[in-house]
Formats: sequence, structure tokens, C-alpha cells
Amino acid sequence: METDIVSNIMNIRQRMAAAAERSGRNPADIQLMAVSKTVPPERIREALDAGITWFGENYVQEAREKIPVIGQNASWHMIGHLQTNKVKYVVHLFHWIHSVDRLELAKELDKRAAQNQRTLKVLIEVNVSGEASKNGMEPSQVLEFVRQTSVLPNLSVQGLMTMPPYSDNPEDARPFFIALCRLRDEIASENIPGVQMKELSMGMTDDFEVAIEEGATIIRVGRAIFGERHYQ
Ligand SMILES: *Cc1c(COP(=O)(O)O)cnc(C)c1O
Repeated sequence: METDIVSNIMNIRQRMAAAAERSGRNPADIQLMAVSKTVPPERIREALDAGITWFGENYVQEAREKIPVIGQNASWHMIGHLQTNKVKYVVHLFHWIHSVDRLELAKELDKRAAQNQRTLKVLIEVNVSGEASKNGMEPSQVLEFVRQTSVLPNLSVQGLMTMPPYSDNPEDARPFFIALCRLRDEIASENIPGVQMKELSMGMTDDFEVAIEEGATIIRVGRAIFGERHYQ
């Protein structure tokens, strides 16, 4: 049976609202992003028709093929690891980059954004678990990195992103979400000019409710919307 995207989205919105209520938060403060890697444009359009406006993609080549087909009515978010030499191909396609984790990448994004006369919203990807296989910056380096990024005129720092280690128990992710939230608050208290330290991009299909309880403002949900992914 084909996945029913409309009812999946309704179900997720109910679970988001319940998680927000449990933690005394306003559901309107949490953005649902649909992660559409491997999902063909016609399925993405179904999600658009069902009211989703934020989409996340991981792979440069796939994004270059799909985003122009759907167009810029949606807000496009790069959530995958981004090689510096690929920035020139994607900077005009995305509105936000969630995976900024090194100065070389930030500088290239700033340069290419300037050439395209646009400002990119960026999140700093943090490796809160310290797991060697994960992308992202060490927590102790993030404050200094935010200061360095804050002076790049065509980037606008909005907050932090993380991806905890894989586990089949969503509770295992909670300490990492708590850690990211604390780090965001610490950096926000520095009041760095030009920096908005408001957003926390955390939580996916298996753990978005825990992430909302711990302060997520953007959740990135793929399989719960589109069904299992089919890689080619
Ligand atoms: C694929 C991916 C997601 C979505 O994962 P699901 O488990 O399908 O919800 C979220 N964030 C990142 C960075 C991803 O690569």
C-alpha cells in the first residue's frame, strides 16, 4: 500500500501538539520540516499540498535535480554534510544550511551567497555525543566559531543543529537534546551582534517527541511522513 502522506502528517501534528503540551510549550513555536531525500517530486508535492512548506535535502546532486522542479514556493534546507567544493552548485537553491561545522565551509557559503545577492540562514552542527563517526563541531568550539561566523555579512546564524547517535530507544537521545539546548542558551547569553541563537534543529522520526520536550524548534522528519526510503 502507498504511504498516505496526508494522514501521516495529521498524525505527526497531533503528536507534536501533545509533546508541546506535556512540556508547557506552544505548538506554534515548533516547525515541522519534511526530510525528502530519495523522495520523488510528485510525493514532495503531496506534502506541499498538505501544508508542509519546509523541506530538507541531504545530497547535492539530488537537490540540484529536484529543487528546481518543485520551485521556491517551499523553503529548502540543506541538512546533509556539505563539501566546500559543492557549495557553488547549491547556494542559490537553499534558504537554510543546517550543517555548518567548519570555518572553511562558512567562508565559502558567505562568498557564494554574496555572489548570488542573498543571505543564507545557517545553523551550526554540533557533535554533542563526541561519537567519532558523526559530523559536527565539538561543543567547546562552538562559541568561538559563532563569533567568527557572525562577522560574515551574507550568513545569518540562527541556532544549533544536532543528530544524536543511532539508538532504537528515543530516551537515549534525551541527554544530547538537553546538552544542545544548554549550549544554545549559553551562546545566546553572550548577545553576539548579528546572531540569533533561537533555533534548535533536533529530533527525527524516532525521537521528535523527546526533542520537542527538550526545546526543539525545528524537527526533521522523513520516514514518518514519506515511509521507508528506497535508495537506488
Ligand atoms: C535523513 C535525515 C533525517 C530524517 O530521518 P528520519 O528518521 O527519516 O525522520 C533528519 N535529519 C538528518 C540530518 C537526516 O540525514
